[in-house]
Amino acid sequence: MLNASLKQLSALLADGKVSSVELTQTFLDRIEQLNPSLNAFITVDREKSLAQAKTADELRAKGGACPLTGIPVAQKDIFCAQGWLTTCGSKMLHNFVSPYDAHVIEQFNRAGAVNLGKTNMDEFAMGSSNETSYHGKVKNPWNQETVPGGSSGGSAAAVAARLAPAATGTDTGGSIRQPAALTGITGLKPTYGVVSRYGMIAFASSLDQGGPMAKSAEDCALLLNAMAGFDSRDSTSLEREKEDYARDLAQPLQGLKIGLPKEFFAEGLSADVAQRVEEAIAEYRKLGAETVEVSLPNSKLAIPVYYVLAPAEASSNLSRFDGVRYGHRAPEYTDLLDMYCKTRAQGFGSEVKRRIMIGTYVLSHGYYDAYYLQAQKLRRLIAQDFVEAFKHCDVIMGPTAPSTAFKIGEKSDDPVSMYLSDIYTIAVNLAGLPGMSVPCGFGGNGLPVGLQIIGNYFSEAKMLNVAHQYQQATDWHTRMPEGI
Ligand code: GLN
Repeated sequence: MLNASLKQLSALLADGKVSSVELTQTFLDRIEQLNPSLNAFITVDREKSLAQAKTADELRAKGGACPLTGIPVAQKDIFCAQGWLTTCGSKMLHNFVSPYDAHVIEQFNRAGAVNLGKTNMDEFAMGSSNETSYHGKVKNPWNQETVPGGSSGGSAAAVAARLAPAATGTDTGGSIRQPAALTGITGLKPTYGVVSRYGMIAFASSLDQGGPMAKSAEDCALLLNAMAGFDSRDSTSLEREKEDYARDLAQPLQGLKIGLPKEFFAEGLSADVAQRVEEAIAEYRKLGAETVEVSLPNSKLAIPVYYVLAPAEASSNLSRFDGVRYGHRAPEYTDLLDMYCKTRAQGFGSEVKRRIMIGTYVLSHGYYDAYYLQAQKLRRLIAQDFVEAFKHCDVIMGPTAPSTAFKIGEKSDDPVSMYLSDIYTIAVNLAGLPGMSVPCGFGGNGLPVGLQIIGNYFSEAKMLNVAHQYQQATDWHTRMPEGI
């Protein structure tokens, strides 16, 4: 059952071979057993999850089931869920019980899915290793001395260790795709605006996007069917017709044009990752695809541009955490200003403070034009590169991350080397494009490697088709860490 696809689980539930209560119990037991070492979950609430499972079983008995009814899904702790502790991995929100549901949570509830618990993450989704969480580091189930990637590392570790059949993540610069790659699972960041950000704690609003993390592309399609859709409460949510993201999964790939950006296969990419990605591309050729070289000449600017724009937006978004309305408040202070200062000094971790300082600096009078405005112009050029590239291909492929999972602590004192973990993913967010990561083998150290698939705007169904056909021909996505 641990390796079953969502479709298989749905069929077992429909045939009455297992109830949602039993299924949820199985995963809760696994969490109880394995979470103390992995630290993938921040909050588990047996009673709440089992009550939801019971309701799902009743709904099914009445004939009102959808494909996800009764399926347990782990939720990244960035999504507000009514009655659940929602901390965003920060001391600032260590005591915040959300009074409302995020749109994504509402959608899962509507589908009858079960909230299996809240997963660990880098504080306010800032990080690539899940080492900055107030709740402690998450371990990579493939090798517990290594990081699972970040910031959705709890969700990634949970799915990889089969503590959950599926999970949600969010991706501002790579936080779904990079941890998916480092833990050998499949993750998709949709086109900006496809999944509502309502109730998803804001990091950098023009880049943040929620998406599915699961064992396979087929599972991601089912999850995205529930997550996507217009929501008037998010001003950047796009009003588009409802799509079935699983509709094209079975299409053959004959004639598919894959663009290979020459900048993605250059300096900085580790040899074993390069080799696995090339083997995956060879597999695509066998499936009938053709490859063409494309160029993303401005992609080298993506990291500097992102580290101006994301902190700028974060410094503004995080100003709401002042000890007045919710979350942490310094226990002792002399006046209002002192309360703000002490609350924020105590509540935020050092990476979050670094971003707030950078963001405040680049937005300040005198520096706005030199940094913020300049970065906005470069963002447009980066997006334009993709428009050019997609004139010559249907999808773009390359590595998701430059290396396999690194050791815990290895990059903690070197923020720039940490930021480089997202070198292949960040440009996709700046352009607002959809991107996904699919497991494509193992590096020299036995750790998973991810293949990145980047699609044109709104081509999620096509990308899932491209990923699914590869997963029909290979079995990397079915591999499980040993001893787990
Ligand atoms: N690692 C990047 C950062 O630290 C991206 C994080 C994300 O996508 N949420 O900002």
